[in-house]
Amino acid sequence: MHYQRHRKAGTLPPPMPRPAFTPRPCSIPTCPDVVIARGWCPHHYSKWRTYGDPLWMRIPPTPAERFWRKVDKSGPVPAIGTLAHERGLGRCWIWAASIDGRGYGQFSITPGHNVRAHRFSFELSGGVLDDDLHIDHLCVVPLCVNPDHLEQVTPLENQRRAHRARVMTTLAESMQRHPSAA
Ligand SMILES: [Zn+2]
Ligand SMILES: [Zn+2]
Repeated sequence: MHYQRHRKAGTLPPPMPRPAFTPRPCSIPTCPDVVIARGWCPHHYSKWRTYGDPLWMRIPPTPAERFWRKVDKSGPVPAIGTLAHERGLGRCWIWAASIDGRGYGQFSITPGHNVRAHRFSFELSGGVLDDDLHIDHLCVVPLCVNPDHLEQVTPLENQRRAHRARVMTTLAESMQRHPSAA
């Protein structure tokens, strides 16, 4: 009866009422929130949107990762007269963060645990530090952390090399001043 009257009038019966909205829980177990999209709550959905993973978590960088971010690998080519130059060991990698009172790079492995940057680089590249030995910079650049430019030597050898480096530098400077004397 009703239906026929509607047909005559050209009107359709009102749409079925939609079932009441019942929020579904986020599909991540242990998450107390309700779904907004793709089965996830706003928090997990936005992680999926940004990182492609609803469970994305920031992983803190390792000390080595933090260390190498502070290094400029496009440093100068070692000066003529240095062992690094003679051996063709490539450019210096310059420490570009904090520097200690003696002009060496300083790196904090964990808060309060500071080490010299070149010594940490030596260890990162597989070297084993010996307390009785010194790390010599073959390039004579204290801020360099290129492991190829670092060699562990006896204190005496280190002194001998420092002396040699001074002689070579003086020689190079005097040759620049008096080119004909060469
Ligand atoms: Zn969630
Ligand atoms: Zn160097």
